Amino acid sequence: MRCTSSIWNSPVANPERIVACPNCGKSTPYSSKNSYRPFCSERCRLIDLGDWASEAHAIPGRELPPGALDDDGKQEY
Ligand SMILES: [Zn+2]
Repeated sequence: MRCTSSIWNSPVANPERIVACPNCGKSTPYSSKNSYRPFCSERCRLIDLGDWASEAHAIPGRELPPGALDDDGKQEY
């Protein structure tokens, strides 16, 4: 089997371990530079902590004006 090289395979000056983000599975460096380790981002860390659920409710979504989708019969130009 031919080993397909990736950027993570370079042995030079790359002491960082690559781990999979527990949340999304994305390869992320497990190093001191990654303050969200072992997660790939702050979002994934928050999701794992369970804050994302509560935060999602706080985030105002796109509010469509009433009647924006039901355009049956009423057409105003
Ligand atoms: Zn992630």
